Amino acid sequence: MSQLVVGVLSLQGDFREHISSVERYGQRAFGLNRREQLSEIDALILPGGESTTIAKLAKAFDLFEPIKKFIEEGGAVYGSCAGMILLADSIEGAAVGQESFGGIDMTVRRNAFGRQVDSFESDIDFQGIPLPPVRGVFIRAPWVERVGAHVQVLAEVSTSEGSHPVAVSQGRLLATSFHPEITEDFRIHEYFLNEIVGKSTR
Ligand code: GLN
Repeated sequence: MSQLVVGVLSLQGDFREHISSVERYGQRAFGLNRREQLSEIDALILPGGESTTIAKLAKAFDLFEPIKKFIEEGGAVYGSCAGMILLADSIEGAAVGQESFGGIDMTVRRNAFGRQVDSFESDIDFQGIPLPPVRGVFIRAPWVERVGAHVQVLAEVSTSEGSHPVAVSQGRLLATSFHPEITEDFRIHEYFLNEIVGKSTR
C-alpha cells in the first residue's frame, strides 16, 4: 500500500495525539487548518475536544463549508468524541446555534454519560477488530441515540438506561464516542485506514 496522507483538523482538541497514532501506524499525517490542504489528503480526522468551539473555529478559518463539501463528495473522515458530534446529522443537547458538518444519518446526545459519570474507561467489543477488546476512554462523551438504515453500529456500551452505540460507520465515515488516540492501541486508526478509507466513494 502506498503511504496515505491524513489531515487532522488542528483548530482545537487533541489533534497531536491523532497525528502520532497515524504515524505510529506508518502513514503520513499533518495538522490541517487551511482549506487548500483538503485537496492534498486521502482522509481527514476530526479530533476530540469541544464540538462547539471546533465548529466556530472552522467557520472563522473558512473551513466549515469546504469540510462539509469534502464529506458530501465522499471523502473519508474519522471523528472521535467531539469529532463524532461534528459528523452527526442531528445533535441532542446542542448549544444554541450549534452546527455540525453532518454526513452520518444519526442523532447523538452530547455529554450523554454525564448524568452518571463524566469520564470512564471500558473494554469495547468492536465489530471487525479481533480480540482483545479495544480500550475505550470516554471523556464527557456523546452516545448515539438514533441511527438511520444505512448506518452500521460497530460497538455499544450498556448503561442503566440501556445499550447505546458508541462506534458507527456510514460509507466512508467513521465515528467513535471514545478516544483511541490517547491510548497505546492504534487498531481503530488501522481499521479506519484499512477498511474505511479503502472503500470506494460510492
Ligand atoms: N463534550 C464535548 C463536546 O460536546 C466532547 C468531549 C470530547 O471530545 N472529549 O464537544
